[in-house]
Amino acid sequence: MAEKVPTREELLSRLTPEQFHCTQEKGTERAFTGRYYLHHEKGLYACVCCGQALFSSETKYESGSGWPSFWLPLAGDRIATHRDTTLGMIRTEITCARCGAHLGHVFEDGPAPSGLRYCVNSASLDFRQPGE
Ligand SMILES: [Zn+2]
Repeated sequence: MAEKVPTREELLSRLTPEQFHCTQEKGTERAFTGRYYLHHEKGLYACVCCGQALFSSETKYESGSGWPSFWLPLAGDRIATHRDTTLGMIRTEITCARCGAHLGHVFEDGPAPSGLRYCVNSASLDFRQPGE
């Protein structure tokens, strides 16, 4: 996996249409359809676009939302947040800090100790087992 920021052309040829739509066009996969919402293996979840590790299975939890949910990112500076007022709601969008890929949103209804729920599209993530 390349560790540099990929170009739009590279992403168009490498990603599935849903992965491209979620990460580059701020799309949202349908709840309960992604490949990781019921995924419980130990490992890291990386940005599907640039390969930066974003979340650990250690902070993944069942939110019941139908999307992979984490209560903390791997490191705070790997995630960028943006105010999102689309769809008549005020939400906080989260993106990959390295390449800008749209990941999902963060909500303040998560479990202790953070109280945060990072709600992420499976299509924005690439799971890697330890050592991969
Ligand atoms: Zn990225």
